[in-house]
Amino acid sequence: MSEKLGFIGLGIMGKGMALNLLKKGHDLCVWNRTSSKVDELVAAGATAGNSPADVASKSDIVFICVSDTPDVEAVVLGESGVLEGVKSGALVVDHSTISPQVTKEIAAKLNAKGVEMLDAPISGGNEGAANGTLSIMIGGDAAQVGRAMPYLEAMGKTITHVGAQGAGQSAKLVNQILVIGTMVSMGEAMLFAEASGLDLEKTLEAVSGGAAGSWTLSNRGPQVAKRDWRPGFTIDLQQKDLRLVLEAADQLGMPAMTTSLAFNLYRTLQTLGLGHEGNHAIVKALENMVDVRVGE
Ligand code: NAP
Repeated sequence: MSEKLGFIGLGIMGKGMALNLLKKGHDLCVWNRTSSKVDELVAAGATAGNSPADVASKSDIVFICVSDTPDVEAVVLGESGVLEGVKSGALVVDHSTISPQVTKEIAAKLNAKGVEMLDAPISGGNEGAANGTLSIMIGGDAAQVGRAMPYLEAMGKTITHVGAQGAGQSAKLVNQILVIGTMVSMGEAMLFAEASGLDLEKTLEAVSGGAAGSWTLSNRGPQVAKRDWRPGFTIDLQQKDLRLVLEAADQLGMPAMTTSLAFNLYRTLQTLGLGHEGNHAIVKALENMVDVRVGE
């Protein structure tokens, strides 16, 4: 039998994910801090909750997709948060990318009320959220993963239970180390192509299908060529993830050189007031070192 679902956080990612749950006919109650973002979901068949606590009181499974660690703390532990309204036996599934350590602390507070939690961060960009093709990496109890699976399958394609509580967040940081290395290389390559006088579209066509191909190159390369800086993922949120990687690497005593390079490049763009642009705008930080502009 289908469980009653709740969704908290209808941003770039949450909106597409919640719409995909509705498309499968699930009963869904939604809440977003900026209330106007709820309208499209209500038009698609969702009901609107008054607060995270209200959504939780009406749901068997509550999905969350907000920005950062303090934001998950706010919607779960804060005033009128999930913890206030949630029923014993319910399940909270957090899709936000946040600290693995704080994830465990939040889960412990929910557990004390008889509520289970899975950390289930996502990858695949706004395209993956809209198309229901996200990668979802999950930490937590296997039985709860099985319980959530029919709903996760409405939102994602590659769904992997990687380990115990917090392991999903750690796997997401692995994902971010890989993504950012490709992003730095993509920026460097596009600048080099421009300086070489190459046709950018033809160059992308030539290299995307070979060993150099990647999601970042296929999805963000064409945007860079057109100087389209609209975000699939903002620089500000990207920095949040790189900070999480750097903190975790420091605790583990591991090197994180590419992550650190990207973090410093993005910082120069944030200083210029460009934190709201897409993370592919990393190419601008490289352009600022030389007198070359890609796609101009
Ligand atoms: P976004 O478009 O900026 O949306 C953020 C959402 O969080 C909005 O609904 C926002 O509400 C809500 N929010 C933020 N702080 C809040 C608070 N203190 N209380 C209540 N609600 C709060 O971001 P996004 O791109 O969807 O990212 C959401 C999460 O998914 C992040 O953890 C991000 O790292 C992760 N993620 C993103 C991508 C991507 O490509 N975009 C890919 C993988 C993972 P308002 O509408 O009121 O601002």
